[in-house]
Amino acid sequence: MKYCKTCVMPESKPGIVLDELGRCNACVTSIEKKKVDWENRWNELKLFSENAKRLSGQKYDCIVPVSGGKDSWFQTLIMAKELGLKVLCVSLGAHMPTEEGIFNLNKMIDDLDIDIIKIMLKPSSYRKIRKKCFLKQGEPNWAEHCAMFSCVLNVALLYEVPLIAWGEDIAYEFGGLQTNKSTPSAITINKNDLIKSKSIQDWLDNDISPRDTFFYTYPDYEKLEKANIKSIYLGHFIPWYGRRHYDIVKKRGFLERKKGPLSGNHLDYDNIDEKLCEINIWFKYIKFGFWRSTDQCCYDIWNDHLTREKAVEIVNNLSKQFPEEYFKDFLNFHMITEEQFWETVEKFRNQDVWEEVKGEWVLKFPLT
Ligand SMILES: [Zn+2]
Repeated sequence: MKYCKTCVMPESKPGIVLDELGRCNACVTSIEKKKVDWENRWNELKLFSENAKRLSGQKYDCIVPVSGGKDSWFQTLIMAKELGLKVLCVSLGAHMPTEEGIFNLNKMIDDLDIDIIKIMLKPSSYRKIRKKCFLKQGEPNWAEHCAMFSCVLNVALLYEVPLIAWGEDIAYEFGGLQTNKSTPSAITINKNDLIKSKSIQDWLDNDISPRDTFFYTYPDYEKLEKANIKSIYLGHFIPWYGRRHYDIVKKRGFLERKKGPLSGNHLDYDNIDEKLCEINIWFKYIKFGFWRSTDQCCYDIWNDHLTREKAVEIVNNLSKQFPEEYFKDFLNFHMITEEQFWETVEKFRNQDVWEEVKGEWVLKFPLT
């Protein structure tokens, strides 16, 4: 297993390919992004906005999916204030929000003075679907990602909103399976690397009823086209960088994590709005040998904010930490025992990435 020569991404990540110079596709993307005519792209975004205003009449022009994080605050700021659209925020309510997550979402709504719809999924079925995704796929947050994409599109259809503004295209920005080209359209977001060609239908059983899956079901593409709904990635039109978004929204009241970065994290303002995602992300360490600090350091390298040498030091120091802060919450929410948890970990441990040395699991190919 090799690592990218210019960032610290391992080639074990699905979709990552190293070129003849040893650079990963996400590094190549970051070089391409520096050559983009962003003024031109901004003008393209203005056209999408004007078209949405023309189509919406007296209703909402645009939906921005929000979580209470720095990126969604930035997205709403752009669409509502910079482009002057009548925005409806749609939030998939976290079942275990953090104090900072609740504060930041409320603060954002107050700061930007905006309407919001919060969708809370029925707890019993949400818990069952998450648990099944965890035990069978080592990926409990699949349920949340699926519901996020689907509920937003369903709300757009119900309220006849012509435009949806997502953040970045993860496959393009981070190197992924779906595409290596930046495109404005996010209409196939339900097929991205977080979803992996699965649908909610794949998880149904005697315990999970189809009657409870409305917000997990992505509408037909045909229906969306007929309704003239455009779904776009703002990252295609604006150079995307979380640290810059953080700097902007911090001035407007965004709060970073009070107790500092979570275990395994390099940043104190990234993914801090809910408690159930940390274990999901940590499973990447078991499956691919990297997790949060690699993602966070790579982003900083791509944006010339961190050297590779320093990133190696940070990643080697932080990756070994276990996300203990919300571990008990995770077990309680899914009603699984600690024993069941560690059995699942071993089921998904990638033997190409890990080896046992003197009774301890270590990475076969450490980052250097
Ligand atoms: Zn790279």
